[in-house]
Amino acid sequence: MTAPPPASAAAPASAPGRLNLVPFVSVDGMMRLVLAVGAERAMTEIAALIEEDFRRWPEFDKTPRVASHSAAGVIELMPTSDGALYGFKYVNGHPSNMRRGLQTVTAFGLLADVATGYPVLLSEMTILTALRTAAMSALAARHLAPPGAGVMAMIGNGAQAEFQALAFRALCGIRELRLYDIDPAATAKCVRNLAGSGLTVTPCTSAEQAILGAGIVTTVTADKQYATILTDNMVGPGIHINAVGGDCPGKTELHRDILMRAAIFTEYTPQTRIEGEIQQLAPDHPVTELWEVMTGRAPGRSRPDQITLFDSVGFAIEDFSALRWVHAQLARHPHFQELDMIADPDDPRDLYGMLMRAAARNAASAGEGGM
Ligand code: NAD
Repeated sequence: MTAPPPASAAAPASAPGRLNLVPFVSVDGMMRLVLAVGAERAMTEIAALIEEDFRRWPEFDKTPRVASHSAAGVIELMPTSDGALYGFKYVNGHPSNMRRGLQTVTAFGLLADVATGYPVLLSEMTILTALRTAAMSALAARHLAPPGAGVMAMIGNGAQAEFQALAFRALCGIRELRLYDIDPAATAKCVRNLAGSGLTVTPCTSAEQAILGAGIVTTVTADKQYATILTDNMVGPGIHINAVGGDCPGKTELHRDILMRAAIFTEYTPQTRIEGEIQQLAPDHPVTELWEVMTGRAPGRSRPDQITLFDSVGFAIEDFSALRWVHAQLARHPHFQELDMIADPDDPRDLYGMLMRAAARNAASAGEGGM
């Protein structure tokens, strides 16, 4: 088992003695960081941290995320801790947002030192979620996809799509990408953004056409319903399905018959039973958690003709790993601001006195201003 890095090793950002100042990575800061490191390298490094954290799975507090559903979407909190660091993410999922010119998924998150309870990082996580979701997908495929698969179909070409494509290129050696979206403008955007990526990108006019010859099929659509992006007759033996878009009660992408033929792999099964494709199956339908595959307790792909399915919903430990990655970058890439987030009275018990001294200072400066 890989030992976790001590919390202090990942805490270079706040100046000693100024624990009340919390490094904040804004959207602009995250873009600067990812551009400085390179998106593919960032996802490769995040995938390595996710694998490191999955390999020490029993050390973590785990709970299905806390979801608040509405007719428009869902707002969720995703907490976890390894005993040294605590992390949580706030994330929403609103498929109808796109029609209003808004993101389907937005997020921010926090990492804290368990020893003091003080936050050590606050970060945007909309971009970071796309990076970690793609890193997790490619990591799962490394354990499950048919060896040598060079062609991936991607159904759903929205905000997550390019990240998925680049992670599979970097981590799995995908060379060719076949794209389909019900909105041709989304596919055109994806083709444009991936020009020069080194991938051969083919736009397709149907999901059936897209999956022709693909060893890996990624579904990453957004629709708040039981959708059927893939039907049973579309799925041949031996492929790996990376099902990303079904991640909420009542929101799935695959026909149930595909699930009955597949070997199914999950992140944290109690959460996936609520949110994933397997909500369509009996609660005792056998599945394997990926940490078991990563630690050698359970096999990944076991036959060339096996259909493997990663029923991705996104789990708190992946966000924890991604926040760990951001935190570790801040010393070399200081794209953060310090936020005065934690009250810091001279005497810790004199919180009210701090307020009184501030009032006195304000009165004095108002008096000076009046002279
Ligand atoms: P997005 O709204 O930017 O893109 C979704 C795309 O799917 C759109 O281009 C839309 O036209 C297309 N689409 C919808 N129905 C389709 C269909 N029947 N066939 C083909 N294309 C279709 O959303 P996004 O940010 O890219 O997220 C995609 C999905 O992934 C969402 O459902 C989101 O909740 C989910 N997600 C999952 C994870 C995870 O960890 N599993 C993480 C992030 C996002």
